[in-house]
Amino acid sequence: MSCQTDVRVYLGRHKKLFENRLRYLKELAETETHCRRKGTGSGIANCFMDYKEDCDEYPIFGCEFINGSESSKKTCTNQVGSCGCIHAEFKTIHAFIIQNAECIINLDNVLYSVYSPCTSCANLISLCRIQDGSIDAVVHLIDTEHDMRGIDILRANGLLVMKVSDIQLDS
Ligand SMILES: [Zn+2]
Ligand SMILES: [Zn+2]
Repeated sequence: MSCQTDVRVYLGRHKKLFENRLRYLKELAETETHCRRKGTGSGIANCFMDYKEDCDEYPIFGCEFINGSESSKKTCTNQVGSCGCIHAEFKTIHAFIIQNAECIINLDNVLYSVYSPCTSCANLISLCRIQDGSIDAVVHLIDTEHDMRGIDILRANGLLVMKVSDIQLDS
C-alpha cells in the first residue's frame, strides 16, 4: 500500500461518500463554529481497513473537527487568511498524532477537508507524510482561492491532492 494508484482506486470507490461527508461537515461547521469568518471542517479516513477487508465497506471516518474554539468568540478578527482562529486541519492532525502515538503507526490515511488546506496546514500535513508516511492524500470540496499555495506544497511533498469533484469514479 502507500501507493498512489491504490489511493486513487480507494477514492474512486468512495467519491460520493467523501462528497456527502464534506457537505455535511460544511453545514455542521457553519452552524457550530465560533469563528466569525467561516465554518470549515476536516477529518481523516483510513483506507487500509477498506482494502484489508477486500470489500466495499465504508471508509473509516474519524478524527473530525471544525475550525475555531471557545476563544474565537473573543479573538477572531474576521480577516481573510488571518482571523486567528485555529484551523480544522490543525485540530485533526493534533488528534491523529495523539491517536497514533498510542498504537502502531496507522498508515494509508486520507485527510479530507471542506476547503483546500492553507499554506500553514499544508506544511503540517506534509510533515506527517515526511516523518512517518501516515497521510497519503488530501481531498477537499472547495478551493481556498486566497491561498492556493497549500496544494502546491502538498503535491511537492508527494501527497495526492484531489478536489472531490475531480475524483474519477471507480468503474
Ligand atoms: Zn475566525
Ligand atoms: Zn489552515
